[in-house]
Amino acid sequence: VTCFVDQKVAVLGLGRSGLATARALLAGGAVPVVWDDSAEAREAAQAEGFEISDLGRNGAFDGVAALITSPGIPHLYPEPNRVIAAALKAGVPVDNDIGLFFRSFANDDWDGFDTTPRVIAVTGSNGKSTTTALIHHILEVAGRPCQMAGNIGRGVLDIDPGIDGEVIVLELSSYQTELARSLTPDIAVFTNLSPDHLDRHHGMGGYFAAKRRLFAEGGPDRAVIGVDEVEGQFLAGQMAEGPQDDRVIRISSGQKLEGFGWSVFVRKGFLSEWRKGRQVASIDLRAIAGLPGAHNHQNACAAYAAVRSLGIGPKVIEQALRSFGGLPHRSQLVGERDGVRFVNDSKATNVDSAAKALQAFARIRWIAGGMGKEGGIKGLVPYLGAVAKAYLIGHSARDFALELGDTPYELCETMAVAVERAAAEAEAGDVVLLAPAAASFDQYPNFEKRGDDFCACVKVSLGG
Ligand code: ADP
Repeated sequence: VTCFVDQKVAVLGLGRSGLATARALLAGGAVPVVWDDSAEAREAAQAEGFEISDLGRNGAFDGVAALITSPGIPHLYPEPNRVIAAALKAGVPVDNDIGLFFRSFANDDWDGFDTTPRVIAVTGSNGKSTTTALIHHILEVAGRPCQMAGNIGRGVLDIDPGIDGEVIVLELSSYQTELARSLTPDIAVFTNLSPDHLDRHHGMGGYFAAKRRLFAEGGPDRAVIGVDEVEGQFLAGQMAEGPQDDRVIRISSGQKLEGFGWSVFVRKGFLSEWRKGRQVASIDLRAIAGLPGAHNHQNACAAYAAVRSLGIGPKVIEQALRSFGGLPHRSQLVGERDGVRFVNDSKATNVDSAAKALQAFARIRWIAGGMGKEGGIKGLVPYLGAVAKAYLIGHSARDFALELGDTPYELCETMAVAVERAAAEAEAGDVVLLAPAAASFDQYPNFEKRGDDFCACVKVSLGG
């Protein structure tokens, strides 16, 4: 990052991406001054030799060229962040590592990037990680040099300067897109929109606006847009000059989209690609174990469309979809005995992703609960048909029980009890599914640890 040579740049938040930002600024000739509210994080940065400065105090922004914040720091809600407020008051531009990344590209700062850089950015409420990992996997199978970063794997400023023709796949959360001053991917992917994280973005409008920023600024060369919700339809309509404009690839996991310039959709288990009124390719997804359920079919469409934009052929894509192992904690098959499958979908922290999981299997022993979100599981009532019984854990267990109607349930408190009870009662053909529809922090530090605990309990239940 050489856009701040000899200038002071403030860095707020010293987690992984904040430290990577400070290092990248230093390497590019800037003078970083850093701050984190946690003393522990400050000590780690100090040990690396960075200058610590309380950026919230008066005058902290004198002579500072920019403030770079970390995605984990809410800037306005539930209350304005004091450091960000101080920077804005002092007229100092606020940006983040994603903005710096795109700026560096635009400025041609990256040695060796003299061919057209190819950046694919994936955003949306659910399915970002899976889609990003799937795109990366297809590119690898196709033999294209590629790197994956952002919200998955490494921070964007941690990746090595690319080599010619390399593709960089970025997963971007709304927290990352909302503050980036520069967002100029070559291909932008929007998977879907659901009412998650609304508190921070002050309602659906603000949330959608944060996602949509990716499609502004003259826009990407190509936009892959999920049109299963009205917001996606709106976005596609805004981006395209008309239905035949193939700058937009519309994707759907259920609707026939035959009348557009370019579209990819799944019907009856078959993925189809249509261009200008003709079907050009078709893939049978039914037997692909790593991508169960309509939600994963949506991810397959998104990844397919993104890599087709780079000229990769349907045969190679089909081969790659077959060999995709899936990501941990997302529809992850972790064990099987006597016809009972155990599936870890710990990442199903909101109603929308849990609804997808409940629709992906025929008979479910459902482990749910944790730190419930606003609205609880009211939105899941239409999807309880496949649930043979619910095993409720965590803080929200009793609240969830009230919404279950006739569905049998048991209050289990802990994961260990829930897995043990579900395993004992499961019959051949059942899926014991962890899809909590709640955050994890009442019982775990994060959803990964919760998923790991589920896996460990399954292991015990399967006899070591
Ligand atoms: P993100 O990175 O957007 O959080 P993930 O791929 O990590 O997305 O998946 C998050 C959760 O949502 C998981 O429970 C997963 O099974 C579910 N999910 C995956 N893809 C989709 C989709 N396209 N629509 C809805 N839910 C999805």
